[in-house]
Amino acid sequence: MIRPLRFIIDLLFPPKCCFCGKIVFTHRDDVCPACWEALPGLSGGERRLEVSARTARCVSALRYEGAVRRGFLRYKFSGDYWLGEVFGEILAGVVFEALGGEFDAVTWVPLSARRLRKRGYDQAKILAGTVAGLLGLPLVPTLFKKRDTAANSSLRNAAERQPNVAGAYGILPGAEGLRLLLIDDVLTTGATLSECAGTLLQGGAAHVVCAAFAEADGS
Ligand SMILES: [Zn+2]
Repeated sequence: MIRPLRFIIDLLFPPKCCFCGKIVFTHRDDVCPACWEALPGLSGGERRLEVSARTARCVSALRYEGAVRRGFLRYKFSGDYWLGEVFGEILAGVVFEALGGEFDAVTWVPLSARRLRKRGYDQAKILAGTVAGLLGLPLVPTLFKKRDTAANSSLRNAAERQPNVAGAYGILPGAEGLRLLLIDDVLTTGATLSECAGTLLQGGAAHVVCAAFAEADGS
């Protein structure tokens, strides 16, 4: 864009930090210096998810607390879908370091058709699309949600969450033989990612690794 025009737009609509909402200097600075310093990163943010009789590697970029939680809630519920590209960039770096070489295509945990109509965008798909674009890999739709489930955030623990998502996802044609990176937004008990990874493997995917933007305390 022509510089003077960009300058005027920045004055009228000052760019804000994705996490704390404070005004930043330019649109290139999507995260303010204070938030970069304070982002609750995960030390060794990797765990193994139970998937059928196997396990799948799963990494998360950040801990779901403080400014990360506030920024994510704006992304998911306030229509600020562009935040997904910034969060996807952060996730891509973590994925590349931890899981690079283990997958050839990127996919995501989809919303139900009803929830997608209501929200207007699929937050995990935007994250996955950004990661795929940055890593130069295809973004492949592989799953669909067969039925609405209670929001997992409304259920207290793994014992309630696993039956809630069991059998909730179906597989689309085209996943056979692929080594996939499966992306979700927030990882809590891992019930949803485990269910989706299991569905992909049963549907003929050759290998599945998982990644989430943030990890909340699960029980
Ligand atoms: Zn900030």
